[in-house]
Amino acid sequence: MKRNGYIVVCFFIIIRVTFVFAQSNAGAGKLLPDIPGYRTLCCDFHMHTVFSDGSVWPTVRVEEAWQEGLDAIAITDHIEYRPHKDDMTSDFNRSFSIAADSRPNGVVVIKGSEITRAMPPGHFNAIFLQDSNPLDTELYMDAIQAAADQSAFIFWNHPGWRQPDTKPIWYEEHTELFEKGLMHGIEIVNDREYYPEAFQYCLDKNLTLMGNSDVHSPIHMAWDLDGGEKRPMTVVFAREKSIASIKEALFDRRTAVYFEKKLFGHEPFLVPLINQCLQVKNVVADEKSVFVEIYNCSFFDYKCMIKPVEGISAPEKLTFYDGKKAGFTVKFTDEVKGRFVLPLLMENVLIAPEKGLFVEYVVSAKTIMEGSH
Ligand SMILES: [Zn+2]
Ligand SMILES: [Zn+2]
Repeated sequence: MKRNGYIVVCFFIIIRVTFVFAQSNAGAGKLLPDIPGYRTLCCDFHMHTVFSDGSVWPTVRVEEAWQEGLDAIAITDHIEYRPHKDDMTSDFNRSFSIAADSRPNGVVVIKGSEITRAMPPGHFNAIFLQDSNPLDTELYMDAIQAAADQSAFIFWNHPGWRQPDTKPIWYEEHTELFEKGLMHGIEIVNDREYYPEAFQYCLDKNLTLMGNSDVHSPIHMAWDLDGGEKRPMTVVFAREKSIASIKEALFDRRTAVYFEKKLFGHEPFLVPLINQCLQVKNVVADEKSVFVEIYNCSFFDYKCMIKPVEGISAPEKLTFYDGKKAGFTVKFTDEVKGRFVLPLLMENVLIAPEKGLFVEYVVSAKTIMEGSH
């Protein structure tokens, strides 16, 4: 009896440990589908740890990223602002090496630093550095040049932060950096701020669109992850999930930005992405109408308008909820056509500050036949 009791206790301990283990290792799956030719990677290239003015140990940033389903992060502690420096006495490379040497569980960890100067020119992140220490210079231009000498990707952070009405101002200093090839991108989103003017700068000057959290606290204290929020992310269209491929994609401007259930980006990448996110799954036809089902396999809702088409009546507005299918009926004035186009204007996918993405969905006879079985 004693032996049996012991076995029962062990059994319950094992069950309990397994349960706790399973709970603590719950992570999100892939957030966005790949597009033809490219992996779609969700990344955050701006965050702090106790090695500057953040409040977490570097390994926590990797664990948070894994839990939230991110593919890559950059640790970007300030060079010039280190309020815990009496305790954190290591050099400027240490926070990255602690994060990179942890078990990243498939999260790509990139070395970065934040060059932190008054506006103008403001704060700049340099990522893909080999050594952060040469960025500790008196003049900002020397720090940025030291990053460029290492072939770093350099972007202007939170350009509207602490500016009147949070509107970015493009100063002479920015022209100089831009003309010298020392500015490769701009954060159009930082934390909870979105800068439409910066979006336009990127379009006008061929700079890379960036959107990052700049998180200082534990991520769940900054964003209500349990309530469905996600941090802002730079979506990268890379050939592979590797540091080299992400770097190539950033210099090649193959990015979009996710922020508060909106996507900002370029048509050549957003059209295939929406085609992968919203898939026509089932079409049932009768003599006068077609019932269409579209499944949303991404992590947030898409809102759109169907533009009027001659001979067709369809709902004016549609919302595709994340992880669900939306069904709607398309009616024809005459007989049902074997192939027709649904022109969708996406309200929360923007290709310029005031311009929604336009996508044409082709519903073909083949789909109709398959759907009617
Ligand atoms: Zn900053
Ligand atoms: Zn920062």
